[in-house]
Amino acid sequence: MTTIKATCPTCGEVGLTPQEIELRVDETDASASFYAFDCPSCLENVRKPADERVVHLLISGGVEVLPAVPPPPARRKLSERFDGPRLNHDDLLDFHTLLSSENWFDGLLAAATSDYRESAA
Ligand SMILES: [Zn+2]
Repeated sequence: MTTIKATCPTCGEVGLTPQEIELRVDETDASASFYAFDCPSCLENVRKPADERVVHLLISGGVEVLPAVPPPPARRKLSERFDGPRLNHDDLLDFHTLLSSENWFDGLLAAATSDYRESAA
């Protein structure tokens, strides 16, 4: 198994496996690339800039390259995000009536915590 030597600011040189190192490479801005690891001795998370030489060394040691910025999660279409029944005019009127009562928040809470679909059927 490959052991990669890295330096913890507190403990000095420590040995890590490739899996213990997170290598983030920014392809548009090399100075934004970095590697990070949890020090096996003091458990502190250490993060250091990775220039091209360091990136090559880590890759040759078996460290997986990850993008510097994780890609944003794919946005789902509105119709795919909500699978409940559509809000209708009666729901809106019920909500209006609920809001005009004095204890509307308690009523809202009770409706939200009970299985309203079952009680409505
Ligand atoms: Zn340490």
